[in-house]
Amino acid sequence: MSVPDVLDLPDVLILGGTGEARALAGALVADGVPVISSLAGRVAHPRLPVGAVRIGGFGGVDGLRDWLRSNHVQAVIDATHPFAATITTNAAAACAAERVPLLRLRRAPWTPAEDEYWQRVASVTEAATALTDADRVLLTTGRQDVSAFADITSAWFLIRVVDPPTGSLPPHHEILRSRGPYHYDAERDLLHDNHIDTLVTKNSGGTLTQAKLTAARTLGVRVIMVDRPTEPNDMTTVDNVDDAASWVKTIVNR
Ligand code: NAP
Repeated sequence: MSVPDVLDLPDVLILGGTGEARALAGALVADGVPVISSLAGRVAHPRLPVGAVRIGGFGGVDGLRDWLRSNHVQAVIDATHPFAATITTNAAAACAAERVPLLRLRRAPWTPAEDEYWQRVASVTEAATALTDADRVLLTTGRQDVSAFADITSAWFLIRVVDPPTGSLPPHHEILRSRGPYHYDAERDLLHDNHIDTLVTKNSGGTLTQAKLTAARTLGVRVIMVDRPTEPNDMTTVDNVDDAASWVKTIVNR
């Protein structure tokens, strides 16, 4: 972890853990904007952005408020994953209380093509209850959500994760450790070779993990799509790194 010099405190805090957050840090550092990226510390060997990085939770809204104050933060970009709902809610509350401008950088969700059908569910719990007819499942919802499927005895799961899950697991499974990006041919082979009939995924959006959906469509694999959690609805939001970088520059150049 690199720590900025005390005489060069970062003006801009990026709440990260996504490719967009890394890209934004890179763009701002290249333009000489002092930034610090924050990671939750969930992944053992995270891909680190350029520039200063801090790792670990802040301690809820109050901890984040303290951190913003003591680091004289001028602007926050919440570039966390669309399913990281707690930190997004906390950032909205802390920034409002400290009167620090906040931007939400959230990639657009995936949408089905006209002739494509996804079974949409509101949560991973609902995805688990939708699996009654499934036989062989590719589960890509991330290691924190695997335990929602632990009671399903009727299906076999190929559980794709970056780091091994720590909670309870369904009795019939194989763990596949890997990290995207994923490409169409390999995704099609993975579904085909493992005789997958159902894909369970969150609607993360973005291009890095989208190929599984195209492969599922090609092979007629059923898709259960977990919808995104709701976010505070008064947040200024952009869906791409360029717009986020422009917003930051209007703040730090004021
Ligand atoms: P979460 O449920 O929204 O947050 C839980 C707690 O983790 C927060 O209250 C906060 O702790 C801490 N936290 C989360 N993101 C943080 C960050 N960027 N910097 C510092 N602390 C952070 O988050 P999550 O869903 O566990 O996701 C954790 C991280 O993984 C995020 O950075 C996210 O971008 C990344 N990620 C998540 C997913 C996903 O599917 N959820 C997928 C890919 C990447 P305190 O309350 O102590 O501040």
